[in-house]
Amino acid sequence: MDKEAIYPAQAWKITEEEFLLENNHHNEAIFALGNGYMGLRGSLEEDYPGSEETTTPGFYINGVYASEEIIYGEEAPNLPKKGQTMVNLADWSEINLYINEEKLNLLKGQILDYKRELDLQQGILRREFLWEDRQGRKIEIKITRLISLSREHIGAIRYQFKAVNFSGKISVNSAINGDVSNHHHLRDKKALEVIESEVDTNTGHLLHRVKSTNFKVAYVVEHLMDDYSKENCEVKKRSSDNRVDWIFEISAVEGEEYTIDKIVGVNHSREEGENPLSDARASAARASITGFENLVEEQAEFMSGYWQDVDVKIDGDDSLQQAFRFNAFHILQAAGKDGQTSVAAKGISGEYYEGHYFWDTESYILPFYAFQRPEVARNLLLFRYNTMDKARKNAERMKLNGVLFPWRTINGEEASGFFMGSTVQYHINADIAYAVNLYYQVSRDQEFMENYGLEILIETARMWLSLGSYIPMKNNKFCFNVVCGPDEYKPGVNNNAYTNYMAKFNLDLAVKMAEIIKDKSPEKYKRLADRIELNEKEIDNMKEIKEDIYLPYNEELEITPQDDSFLYKNPIEVDNIPDAELPLVKNWHPLIVWRYQVIKQADVILLMLQLGDKFGQDLKIRNYDYYEPKTTHDSSLSPAIYSIIASEIGYKNQAYNYFLQTARLDLDDYNENAYQGVHTACMGGTWLSLVQGFGGMRMFNGKLYFHPHLPDGWNEYQFRLRFKGSQIEVTVKENTVKYMLISGEKVEFKHYDQIIVLEESSLSQEVEIK
Ligand code: BGC
Repeated sequence: MDKEAIYPAQAWKITEEEFLLENNHHNEAIFALGNGYMGLRGSLEEDYPGSEETTTPGFYINGVYASEEIIYGEEAPNLPKKGQTMVNLADWSEINLYINEEKLNLLKGQILDYKRELDLQQGILRREFLWEDRQGRKIEIKITRLISLSREHIGAIRYQFKAVNFSGKISVNSAINGDVSNHHHLRDKKALEVIESEVDTNTGHLLHRVKSTNFKVAYVVEHLMDDYSKENCEVKKRSSDNRVDWIFEISAVEGEEYTIDKIVGVNHSREEGENPLSDARASAARASITGFENLVEEQAEFMSGYWQDVDVKIDGDDSLQQAFRFNAFHILQAAGKDGQTSVAAKGISGEYYEGHYFWDTESYILPFYAFQRPEVARNLLLFRYNTMDKARKNAERMKLNGVLFPWRTINGEEASGFFMGSTVQYHINADIAYAVNLYYQVSRDQEFMENYGLEILIETARMWLSLGSYIPMKNNKFCFNVVCGPDEYKPGVNNNAYTNYMAKFNLDLAVKMAEIIKDKSPEKYKRLADRIELNEKEIDNMKEIKEDIYLPYNEELEITPQDDSFLYKNPIEVDNIPDAELPLVKNWHPLIVWRYQVIKQADVILLMLQLGDKFGQDLKIRNYDYYEPKTTHDSSLSPAIYSIIASEIGYKNQAYNYFLQTARLDLDDYNENAYQGVHTACMGGTWLSLVQGFGGMRMFNGKLYFHPHLPDGWNEYQFRLRFKGSQIEVTVKENTVKYMLISGEKVEFKHYDQIIVLEESSLSQEVEIK
């Protein structure tokens, strides 16, 4: 399935070449900027001239939410009571321009030249256009925007204009618009109230409170002008209930360029006693002293460091090169890095999924960070650690022990009202445990494991012991009934293979790590054991039960059955479902979906990846052949995983096609829903399918393996990985691979069956691809 490109293929840029209303919604997500703390959609500075259906402007802070009662069609006991919804906050990007009284409006007059470009190398967004108003006056406008990646509370806009063929009055109205509300989800459209607003000649602020949760958010604006612009300018100001406005009136001279910089500091508080306003003021003041140009330079420096670690060079396909960098840029923008926040399904680029964090973070995004920027992976796991008390309550809600991590959350509590799509996915516990291990194996961060990781492993393992039970009719094996694997089209099933294997992995890991830490740091172990009331009997119980877990296999078909009932459902091939009925999640009643052998997203196939060392190649092929035709990929989390396993079993064409769908999903808008916000898990999947798929990289038991190949049509590709404190570079060509040590000590791994050691005396090795 090939999609027509919306933007030209450029290695480091995404360029919009023409202003078209029908592309606006999509562009708002593609050109969204963020820094993990806050995110601004790519809406225009001037008032949007199109219809409401083609715009969802938004500015959000990761983790700042409003809460409302969940309304259920039918009540049941122990359902979550309150939802959490990321709040659309004040729009501080608003800038309108007037030539005399005529307001800049791209639909009136004429656009003579237009370009907007996201510069992935520098991390900034530029928009330049030449507009002629209805009286023939031409004005050239250049707007540069950034959300600072090195100063998390800073955003900035440089607004420049030049009267091309006239002299006269030009007014620039810059504002903080606090009259905003969520476009979706929240019933109360007045989630915010203004506590105060104030305006001075060049500066001003607005302070908001989220009524239901008491978060306070401060926005402080400072305007800077060069001397020439200042001399010819008169400033008027006003503040009302929920707006702060500055009007810069300039007597413009034909051919002269005028510049206004808008520097914005944004801070929020969770607790009483914190003063976000003075924090935002301080951030804005510091950034103003630094000045716009230096902020741009800082941004470029930050990005250059980032690309040193995460860039993948693809020689031979510009559009995939572009897609790869675009995705890596958005992963950077989306990820909370403070241990209090995580990565929402849509990042901070849209309201959909309400700013919720899912298993997407641990299973799709964390590997990207663990192997490239391990400190971010650590903080993502700390977010889970910091919400463990709520996960303990969540387990209690379900009459379970230990912790049950929420399926959807911002604050650590379960925020989903649809338990057949959420709570039933107990596998999230094992996914988090798996990620703890992944981070630990890659980083060797003993301190993390001792202080945080082990507690997560034990508490998640405890949940499994209380969820499962020995079932006489299943040979007295330990079974997990009424669960759902990653395939959300099969909830409430018994013994989902992915779940059972991952639960075993979770228990195994908890026991092993407990033994290691007990041995290495007995005091720490004792302190933890006392605190969470862990004793030897419980560990022995885990040891015993993990060996008894039922691991499904179907002798007749010689495949791994997705669950106990899957193979007995009505068989169907996705190719026979009319396109108009896809995605099924939107077109079929759930009961229809549940009765067919139809799959939303990689499930058994994901198991083949995560625990790939437990399955032989032949079984992987049989599983792939069985499940692939039944998979709709209605979730964007799916194609990446199919691509990786297709690579592994030698289905190169399929591997490539699935890679394409993953890599260009948002850019080309495969699912026609990118306007809702970018798909962060799928973006992580792009990296996974390149490094784990084409590069054939795996890590099992702390050991690294590569089975690389070069996709047809490419000349070469190159990526870097961090492993146990060192960094290596892998360059894959047609017949050979070069492994190079970039920094750190000795690194050992396997290339097919060959052991490769990179160290000071042998910094690089070039070997043949089998
Ligand atoms: C997928 C889930 C995923 C969620 C958020 C759903 O469509 O089925 O696996 O966690 O989207 O991305």
